[in-house]
Amino acid sequence: MNHNLRSGLYDTSPLYQNAVLDLEMAGRTMDLSPNVLERLKMPKKAMCVSIPVRMDDGSVKTFEGYRVQHSTTLGPGKGGIRFHPEVNLSEVSALAMLMTMKCSLVGLPLGGAKGGIRVDPSQLSRAEQQALTRRFTMEIISMIGPEQDIPAPDVGTDGQHMAWMMDTYSMAKGHAVPGVVTGKPIEIGGSLGRPESTGRGVVYVIEHAIELLKKKNKGNFNLKECTAAVHGYGKVGTVAAEELEMRGCKVVAVSDYFGGIYNKAGLDIADVNAYMAKNRTLKGYPKAEAINNEQLIGLDVDILVPAAIDGVITKDNMKNVKAKIISEGANGPITSEAQQYLEAQGVYIIPDILANAGGVIVSYFEWVQGLQQFFWNEKEVNEKLAEIMARAFNRVAGNADRYNCGMKTAALITSVERLSQAMLLRGLFP
Ligand code: GLU
Repeated sequence: MNHNLRSGLYDTSPLYQNAVLDLEMAGRTMDLSPNVLERLKMPKKAMCVSIPVRMDDGSVKTFEGYRVQHSTTLGPGKGGIRFHPEVNLSEVSALAMLMTMKCSLVGLPLGGAKGGIRVDPSQLSRAEQQALTRRFTMEIISMIGPEQDIPAPDVGTDGQHMAWMMDTYSMAKGHAVPGVVTGKPIEIGGSLGRPESTGRGVVYVIEHAIELLKKKNKGNFNLKECTAAVHGYGKVGTVAAEELEMRGCKVVAVSDYFGGIYNKAGLDIADVNAYMAKNRTLKGYPKAEAINNEQLIGLDVDILVPAAIDGVITKDNMKNVKAKIISEGANGPITSEAQQYLEAQGVYIIPDILANAGGVIVSYFEWVQGLQQFFWNEKEVNEKLAEIMARAFNRVAGNADRYNCGMKTAALITSVERLSQAMLLRGLFP
């Protein structure tokens, strides 16, 4: 009998294929048990749902939604809900795998999961988004819960969506269950510092990278003399730009979906944010020249922060990149091929599962604070975040030296070391 054990259901997207390639590479480098590798290549559980929504004009539209748990070996599933028109089961499965790796890497007692709805939220009214979120929550209710699987915001969702999810789940249970989601507004059990946490973490690891490169005589950077460009001026990118500017770094360019702005002398981030708040776009910002996203990727800067979405730096544009340090604010912004090319060119890449782990770390703090009904101040949150990020960075950098590999592979090795031990200890059921 020679069955093909894969139907191809999960591995249709480049993001999934890249995630598996990266995992295989880490597996080879660390000499991982093939049994563990085999298990990690597929999610534990996936649910696909149809979500009918009565639109404001009275018509009914049906959207596709997914929740995927990649692993619950280390604890409840954890990961965001993405609203994006291109999302599909394969992409959500890849993102769930990245969450497993991220949580394991930074030492959280959480597994990896992700959800998504194939929708462009900017085309929906607030009422339509609420109906969509609530019906989706109801459809996946058997999969989520504070001890089971805990959603959070991701691309296209924010605290308001989490509030609707929490309310829907709580209505079904008959009592308030704040621990079912993280990234909630403060008023209903959110954590101080959660909205800023991902962008902050992205910059903390840049500081560590600069220190390390200096120590190794691989570059004499000083953040105060560096220039930076931020691709994706959203929840993560805006905070990363602010944090970089705060440390004296010159942020010369930022961009969103529609294009970017560039000023050689450095942008005034507060001024850019005020313009954004008023005009809802970077377009027309008077104190900089307009550039497109590809131009931003190719700028001659020291630091590049891709903070928008996956698959932004690929074999098609990797040769244009001039940055010396890249901190991956988004999940999967650099394809495997581009990453290998750039690392061979000496670019220091701080991989997504490390660079953007600040979000899920503070999600974990939110979950813990909620369970204890005892809330911390923002200083405590930031200090604890910085401590965990520093520890994770050092462990990854240590593995990069030990295995003589790039930071991406080292980060995966660091996650898989912990995860595989837990998998082997728990054993296979039955
Ligand atoms: N969506 C974020 C991520 O990709 C946060 C997940 C969470 O806080 O659970 O890491």
